[in-house]
Order: sequence, then C-alpha cells, then structure tokens
Amino acid sequence: MRCHLCLELSWQPLCKKCLSTVLEPTPAKRVLESGLKVYSFYQYAEIANLLHTKHTYIGAKIFAQLAKNSMLPFLKQFDFPKGAYGVPIDDHVRHGYAHSAVLAHTIKSIIKPLYGSLRAGNHQTYSGQKLAFRQSHKRNFISTCKEGMDIVLIDDIVTTGTTLQEAQKVLEKGGVNVLFALALADAKEN
Ligand SMILES: [Zn+2]
Repeated sequence: MRCHLCLELSWQPLCKKCLSTVLEPTPAKRVLESGLKVYSFYQYAEIANLLHTKHTYIGAKIFAQLAKNSMLPFLKQFDFPKGAYGVPIDDHVRHGYAHSAVLAHTIKSIIKPLYGSLRAGNHQTYSGQKLAFRQSHKRNFISTCKEGMDIVLIDDIVTTGTTLQEAQKVLEKGGVNVLFALALADAKEN
C-alpha cells in the first residue's frame, strides 16, 4: 500500500518517515473547567484528514499507529498510580471500528482497558456542533466502573471538553477516581 500522507510505498497506512517527521507528536495539556487534565498529542487541524478515516478498516490501523507514535511514549515516562484502568469514551461500535477502543487497545501494555465500561445513552453526533448544542444534548453516560478504581479517560478528539467532563461527573458520582484524560487531538476553538 501507499502511505496516506506522502504516497510513498509503505507496509502500513502511515510510513515511518511521516511518523517521525510531520506526525512527530507535540504533547499538550489542557485543564478543563472541572479541573480535569487532558493530555493531547496533535493539533486537530494537523491530522484532520487522518481522523476522518475513523470507523473504517484503514482508520483503525491509522488510529493505532498514531496512538503508538504519541500516547505510548508519553505514558512510558509519565508517573501515575499502578493498576489504573483505561476507559474509552463510549466505545459503542456504530460503523465498524470504535476509535476510542482502538486507542485504548494500543496502550494496553501500560493501562489496562475496560471496554464498554462507559456507554452513552444518547448517540447524537457532536461532530461540527457548537458548544451550546453539546451542552444541551448530554450523552447520558452509564458507567459500569467499580467504586475506588483509578481510571484514565480515552478519546480521539477533545473540542469543548463537554463530553469528557460529563463522563468525569458520572464516574466520580460512582466513587471512581478519574486521574486524567488522553485525547489524540485537541480541536480547541479559539
Ligand atoms: Zn509517508
């Protein structure tokens, strides 16, 4: 196949050269209103075309490659409680592959994934919607995480942070300790 970015021949959808140059991660931290820390690795605009491949076979591979290139090295040198679990945001599969579950799977050597432990009761799409819409259309998350667990939230994109904060609230209500959140890309609207 050919690399999705440079079109050179490659064994994977993203070639090694692109991963180490244009896809070199730029880790950033954002603190949401609730106090939740979100670590992201790319600016949304930088990888928007790649993120649009999600829910496809190639998209799952691309997400795994991006997480391996960014989240994994970051977590390896990051200090957090042992035995923490990774909770993908609503890994309900709509069309093929659940993007957040792919990310959680890729970092499983460091954070044990709890698939399907946080499901949205409302599957409204948030893509392209403004803050007011997001805030008035809550996800109504249902958590099956156990009290006292240390967890890390995992999602592909953080935009307003509404979804992550709603997830945090539901989990904390159930006595779960939300350590921080990981997002592949930050799409903060300035
Ligand atoms: Zn390439």
